[in-house]
Amino acid sequence: MKKDLFAGEANEEYFQIKPHHFLDYLYDLGVDYRHDDEINVFGSNNGELCRAFIDGKMTKIRFTPFVDDICRPCKKLAEGVRCIDVFDDDTTLYYGFRYKNDFNYQLDMKLNSALPDVFCFDKVWDMIDLLSELEKRLTAEIIDLYKWRRPERVEKTFSGIEKGKKIYSLQTKKAV
Ligand code: SF4
Repeated sequence: MKKDLFAGEANEEYFQIKPHHFLDYLYDLGVDYRHDDEINVFGSNNGELCRAFIDGKMTKIRFTPFVDDICRPCKKLAEGVRCIDVFDDDTTLYYGFRYKNDFNYQLDMKLNSALPDVFCFDKVWDMIDLLSELEKRLTAEIIDLYKWRRPERVEKTFSGIEKGKKIYSLQTKKAV
């Protein structure tokens, strides 16, 4: 099995993000959470890239079910391929998974399957186009595929899309 099939390569022209990580960022934007107070024990890029998204710097993005730019420097990523972190509650065991790697993979595949042309793994999106498409196509049911049920998750995700559209419309105008 080739290691780089799963590890992927960083790309200078676009960010590579797992679909469920991107839904997290929309929620974060919806609640104005920039991860400034996050203790980054394992050295992932989660907070840094969340701030890049919120600050309008994530202008191009491609989804991946494998290693993304958040996970790439994380100490929990064994041999640059597989996350060896485990969830410490019973939620994932209920669905048949303990390792984040496995739970997140099945979640990203569910998101891909729910909106294949949006969470497509072979397309590079301009952020403003992606947000416009998600505004039209994302549903509460798809957001709830996530399963960690926070009552305000759906509303805040859509609020994140709305805020993101304003941020990236300004970016697009600046670039013209
Ligand atoms: S999913 Fe695993 S590898 Fe990725 S940031 Fe989280 S702990 Fe690190």
